[in-house]
Amino acid sequence: MSVPSFRVGDLEIKGYSDGVLRTSLDMILNMERARSEALVGGTDGGWLYIPVNNFVFQREGKTIMIDAGSGHDMQPTLGKLPENLRAGGVDPKSVGYIVLTHIHPDHANGLIDPRGEAIYPNAEILVHAQEYDFWMSEDKGGEPEKLKAVKARNKRNMKPYTERVRRMREGEEVLGCTPILAAGHSPGHTCWRVMSGRESFLAWGDIVHLSAIQISHPDTTLSYDLDGDAARKSRHRILDMTANERIVVAGAHVNAPGFGHVVRKGTTYAFESV
Ligand SMILES: [Zn+2]
Repeated sequence: MSVPSFRVGDLEIKGYSDGVLRTSLDMILNMERARSEALVGGTDGGWLYIPVNNFVFQREGKTIMIDAGSGHDMQPTLGKLPENLRAGGVDPKSVGYIVLTHIHPDHANGLIDPRGEAIYPNAEILVHAQEYDFWMSEDKGGEPEKLKAVKARNKRNMKPYTERVRRMREGEEVLGCTPILAAGHSPGHTCWRVMSGRESFLAWGDIVHLSAIQISHPDTTLSYDLDGDAARKSRHRILDMTANERIVVAGAHVNAPGFGHVVRKGTTYAFESV
């Protein structure tokens, strides 16, 4: 299988799909339906599919993967990451590090199999401390049921990795990977800058979900975000940064395989695939 890739410095970063996630324009909180329909090029009654991209590279003899996919039980069109890795010659057991942008179902449910055991038994997890601590915290009472359910699942996702979690903070670096907190979508949502020599790329996680809408209209917020206003501010900050620096972006939900540049277009932005 030929796997799409891009180069940054000495690194070759490969894009591996976990499948496509079924979502709906109903998730949009602040744009008229006719406009959002036109931007995505039409839908089936508001339903549409967005890609779920993961990224893998080798460094210093280690296999490093960004995010872990959706696992076996989220949607039938998802959970394809392990088989796609194998088809591309990557044994899940060989993954040494998993870098998490955040601990949401389509990024972390794929850490475990149906028995709750690690799909990546030799992987150490790099995650922002603010994200990890939020999801691992005890319910102090009064939490909404949906949040409680995601917290419970996240504790199961992380359980087989507990001894191998590295809680990272801004300024820290492991194998060239540095977290940049971009909170809002989740409490510790993180973009990861990965450096090689003087070059770098940014794995920006869920800075956008609907790339056909939120790159050109960054104020558009979705009900997926825990704090929509903070997510909007993070999106503006990161779009501005990536356009200024002209660095390659690797986006979880940007058109598969998910790499490209953000460019300025008038007062807003556009995405150019690599
Ligand atoms: Zn996501």
